[in-house]
Amino acid sequence: MSLSEELYREFAAIVGEKNISREEYILAGNRAQTPEIPMAHKSADAILLPGSAEEVAQIVRLCNKHRIEYVGVVAGCIPTAYSTRENSIIMHFKRMNRILEINEEDRYAVIEPGVRHIQLYPEVRKRGLSYTAAAVGPGGSVLVNIACTGGDHHVQYGTSRPTRYLLGVEMVTPEGEILRTGSLQTGSGWFCPESPGPSLRSIVKGYAGNAGKLGIVTKIAVALDRCKGPAEIRTEGISPHHKVFMDSDCSRVYVFNYKDIQDVCRAMLALGEAEVCATVQKYFYLPLTLMMTDSANEFWKKWTGGYKEALSMPLVVHIAAHSLREREYEEKILFDVVRETGGERIPRELEKWWEEHMDYFMIVSRLQSVLRLGGSWLPQKAGAESVQHMCDVCESIGTYIHDFTDTGKIFDAPENYQIIPMEYSHFASNELLIMWDRTDPKAMSYVGELGAVSRATDAKRHFYSSSPGVAGKAGEATGRLYSNVHVWMGRIREAFDPFYQSGL
Ligand SMILES: Cc1cc2nc3c(=O)[nH]c(=O)nc-3n(C[C@H](O)[C@H](O)[C@H](O)COP(=O)(O)OP(=O)(O)OC[C@H]3O[C@@H](n4cnc5c(N)ncnc54)[C@H](O)[C@@H]3O)c2cc1C
Repeated sequence: MSLSEELYREFAAIVGEKNISREEYILAGNRAQTPEIPMAHKSADAILLPGSAEEVAQIVRLCNKHRIEYVGVVAGCIPTAYSTRENSIIMHFKRMNRILEINEEDRYAVIEPGVRHIQLYPEVRKRGLSYTAAAVGPGGSVLVNIACTGGDHHVQYGTSRPTRYLLGVEMVTPEGEILRTGSLQTGSGWFCPESPGPSLRSIVKGYAGNAGKLGIVTKIAVALDRCKGPAEIRTEGISPHHKVFMDSDCSRVYVFNYKDIQDVCRAMLALGEAEVCATVQKYFYLPLTLMMTDSANEFWKKWTGGYKEALSMPLVVHIAAHSLREREYEEKILFDVVRETGGERIPRELEKWWEEHMDYFMIVSRLQSVLRLGGSWLPQKAGAESVQHMCDVCESIGTYIHDFTDTGKIFDAPENYQIIPMEYSHFASNELLIMWDRTDPKAMSYVGELGAVSRATDAKRHFYSSSPGVAGKAGEATGRLYSNVHVWMGRIREAFDPFYQSGL
């Protein structure tokens, strides 16, 4: 159904005629989710470009009045950023893309939703500051990353999850009210996520974010860290065939391969205990090989020509010290730990690739090439617990995944999981990335089967291995492990969203 002329005029009166469109070619460009989504792509009836929180609030109220679904979007990298039914509109935040303040003294930046990593990061880095970000790529929204979605990322060993970096928040509630949280409430500025009275911090962003279901976030303050690593990053070539260099004696990248995940676990814990190195992670080998190649053909050549074995369980380490002496100290501990835990340095030509691609979020500007094979992909598990627990969970994958990888049901990469410690190995996140042939009509049923076996194994072994807070049956199964979080989430949604029960 398309919007009535009268309603279209009402929306246009809020954002201005040039900031609304219902042209088919504009709608079409905003309805295609990523290819692995098997369902038909629904179309929104119009796309609006609001310019302020006040305009967002008016749009939400008008949508409520006419029972219209609204979806917020910036880069549109995940399926929830798309319309799911008729009688819906999209709010694109490309006009709300201002960096409002960078406060060097109190170390925070205030931004709108349309600010992308490529916009904010160079600005803060110039000032010797940095922030944590998920590995979505330079075009992803900083605000969405930090306040609305997932959050685990590749540099969190020496820092933490983006959740921890969220300070003051301005948002429009599902009722269309503009709400300011944290220190903003008392007019004390953006610096603090908490204030007198009940905290709303976990409502805005719990572990995984609510993807716009509890309101549209219109401004946030992001906490900034002192930057680790050189301020200057040199690039060569043109994306995607570019290289990135950190020309500094204080920066070094090392990659070691392991045979046993329990040895990786010991290495992560020992490095964390010594509080050395900036980044430590067990990376997944299939995306890694994809990133290291420039075409699907080159990928197959390298994957079958030794990369699968050479990189079967890679531990990637970045040292970003403040002085040469500190770097040498960290290297000494690192090499002792690796020797004691049985790691082996990978061949130099492979390690060199990392040296040439360590951009500010670790290989991020190269990340989208993991989608090159053209099949489908899905992250599974994606939870967080202690380093030991995450390693045990990933070890258990080997007990069931071969029924799928050895039989061609999914891509034959049984060790394709990552474990990233946080806060110097005080805890860690995990993610099992599966890929499959999306032209196989049975593929989705295999993926469902694998998910069910994985959940059953986790429940049997009392593994806290998946993000709580996912909708549907999977969410119920996981929620039971986390004090029935799915029930509590339903209640919170009911309290915030006037139309939740009616399914709108
Ligand atoms: C290759 C790849 C790798 C990724 N790696 C990671 C990773 O390592 N870690 C991780 O956490 N995520 C990862 N992601 C997932 C995701 O892309 C990120 O979480 C990212 O932050 C989304 O930003 P975006 O600009 O694409 O948001 P969008 O896709 O535009 O929006 C994401 C969700 O937020 C909602 N939303 C948009 N704007 C607002 C707003 N102002 N207020 C409230 N809700 C809003 C949307 O409706 C949607 O539900 C990855 C995605 C891809 C494609």
